[in-house]
Amino acid sequence: MAQATIIDGKLFAANLRERIAVEVADLKAAHGVTPGLAVVLVGEDPASQTYVRNKGVQTLEAGMHSETHRLPADTAEADLFALLDRLNADPAIHGILVQFPVPEHLSQDRIVARISPDKDVDGLTVTNAGRLASGLPALTSCTPVGCMMLLRDVLGDLRGKRAVVIGRSNLMGKPMAQLLLAADCTVTIAHSRTVDLPAVCREADILVAAVGRAEMVRGDWIKPGAAVIDVGITRLPSLDPVRAAEGKTRLVGDVAFKEAVEVAGWITPVPGGVGPMTIACLLQNTLTAAKRIHGVEG
Ligand code: NAP
Repeated sequence: MAQATIIDGKLFAANLRERIAVEVADLKAAHGVTPGLAVVLVGEDPASQTYVRNKGVQTLEAGMHSETHRLPADTAEADLFALLDRLNADPAIHGILVQFPVPEHLSQDRIVARISPDKDVDGLTVTNAGRLASGLPALTSCTPVGCMMLLRDVLGDLRGKRAVVIGRSNLMGKPMAQLLLAADCTVTIAHSRTVDLPAVCREADILVAAVGRAEMVRGDWIKPGAAVIDVGITRLPSLDPVRAAEGKTRLVGDVAFKEAVEVAGWITPVPGGVGPMTIACLLQNTLTAAKRIHGVEG
């Protein structure tokens, strides 16, 4: 059987960012509105620092206003909430993203609840999750939105497909399942208590793995010809012992790529698959939020 087609998320995301930049310029010209994104980082987690830096750079490249608020790890909840209240009220800001994880003394749920649903570009508030589940327009978590774009690009109409999502987090698994359901797929959500996960996965025309366990999904879990979307990211030591000794790492997905590529019809690589879509969809959500806040159609 032929090898799977590799889904190039990096290229797709670059094209999407270009289209967003054109829309941002049009919005400025027609309505005098510059979409603005504020990212809040509490503490100094190195991976989070990199994500936040990349978000800032790509926001500016799209022609948007970008603010990054770096707070010390011991920031009190009241001080973080005061910042969020200011950002909620700031007319230059249309999207607010708090980079998770936050230090242990802070509650992720309470932070999310403090963000205005109109500016909740991560789609995590109860309002946006409820709107998505009710089939109403919602700001929806960026990575699942990006996965849907890639799936639609390679499969076209998703109606009637059997979809299996492994993982049920509020950020990834649940919104992914809702979006697939809204696209008329027959959806199964699997998780750590699922019995005989390989058999469940083998039924999937569309398999989305969002777990965070390196190479858990083996080639023989995959239905021949299926579309496989690998969301998981695990950082492991480099395979080169010299580089590993220097502390160099490599990114590994949830899917055993070398096995899966022999069976699947389409597959996203790690890195270069789903990852680049996340920031592009964050920009898209910021643009959408700006349009809605200013009552601009489309
Ligand atoms: P999470 O909150 O830790 O959720 C992981 C999910 O995997 C949980 O629902 C858990 O089930 C399930 N799980 C754990 N072990 C399992 C097993 N052995 N069999 C089946 N299911 C199992 O993580 P997340 O935020 O959803 O992220 C998932 C992965 O995607 C992570 O690697 C993360 O880094 C990556 N990610 C990537 C991007 C990107 O931009 N590419 C964006 C978001 C996330 P239970 O609910 O039963 O515990």
